Amino acid sequence: MAEVPDQPLIACHECDALYRRERIPDHARANCTRCGNLLYRETPGAMGRCIAMYLSALMLWVMANAFPFLSLKVGGLIETDYLSSGGWSLWQWGMPELGALVFLTSIVFPGLTIIGMLYLLIPLRFGQVPPLRGRVLRAVTALEPWSLVGVFFLGTLISIVKLQDLATVIPGLGLYSFAALLFAYTAARASFEREMVWPDRPNLLNSERTPDGQLVGCHTCGMLHGDSAHRCVRCGAPVHHRIQDSVPRTWALLAAATLMLIPANLYPVMTVTKLGRGDPNTIISGVIHLMEGGLWGLAFIVLFASIVVPVAKLLTLGFLLVSVQNASNWRPRDRTLLFRVTEVVGAWSMVDVFLVALLAGLVSLGLLATIEPGLGATFFGAAVILTMLAARSFDPRLIWDRADFSGTVHE
Ligand SMILES: [Zn+2]
Ligand SMILES: [Zn+2]
Repeated sequence: MAEVPDQPLIACHECDALYRRERIPDHARANCTRCGNLLYRETPGAMGRCIAMYLSALMLWVMANAFPFLSLKVGGLIETDYLSSGGWSLWQWGMPELGALVFLTSIVFPGLTIIGMLYLLIPLRFGQVPPLRGRVLRAVTALEPWSLVGVFFLGTLISIVKLQDLATVIPGLGLYSFAALLFAYTAARASFEREMVWPDRPNLLNSERTPDGQLVGCHTCGMLHGDSAHRCVRCGAPVHHRIQDSVPRTWALLAAATLMLIPANLYPVMTVTKLGRGDPNTIISGVIHLMEGGLWGLAFIVLFASIVVPVAKLLTLGFLLVSVQNASNWRPRDRTLLFRVTEVVGAWSMVDVFLVALLAGLVSLGLLATIEPGLGATFFGAAVILTMLAARSFDPRLIWDRADFSGTVHE
């Protein structure tokens, strides 16, 4: 390791193991030998495909917003709603925080992510460097975990099934566009790689390498720095050896999330009023209603997303924190995998919040039926956000800090 060859050095995002980026065959993937995380892959034409997918996603995003999303038909009465109706109705019911949360995560953040990506990739494709490249990449990286297109779509499907006994549901062009948007957006994200943004500034280390070999990877763009760096020289993001105060911060967020889950389960998440008779539903009673109605699959999804996932997530993060605090050597690879699953699955709990928003937005059939969102939904939304923040403040590299082979380059 005396001198650095011309292959860029990269650090595994999850465990900080160092590698040289080498040419691998087309369509191959390079995974971290220590923790199993994907390091990079070689996909011919990935950039062109990524741009094409984001362009389609942008077009579909506009269509999903412009055309009617769902219509409800009861007798001679037809009510048509748009994608934005859910968030807006929560606002009108006097729950602006929850309305804003739904509006931002289902419409605004996905839209901004798509536009930001196109802003970066289209000029680079033609050899131009877009202004404020680092700043835009940081913004997009920060927004992406909060763009919940897939979760919202699942919420839509559940609401359609739930509404079957109340009215005839007619999907609109907006809904079909949204479904297609989900595919385009997922494909675009899957073909994106951070190094696409820096064709002119590869991750090459030279004089920056400190003698004791302690290197810090930028969490936004992957650039490696010496121990003394505070800001990434490439994208400008703050660089930390480990996320600061990761353990106490994650504990605090977990505690807050646990507290929020109590009122979330005690207060009703919505009140269904049919022909003048009100029926408040908590999360649990909603699941029981679905079971009584014979909708077992749906009951299972809601039970899983709203109860099993949040509780499992709290327990898992708590377990990981205790293991890190005790400097445990126990199966670091499995613990990293556990964290990765927790991080990915967590956002799906939002499905219940989206469901409430959609039902409240759709069902305002005057005297026939209304669905009023309840305080439980706000507490539940807060609990989901807090657990997502907790997962993001946990630094999986802490799991590996006990391992004695950090700082060596894996060939
Ligand atoms: Zn790794
Ligand atoms: Zn960076």
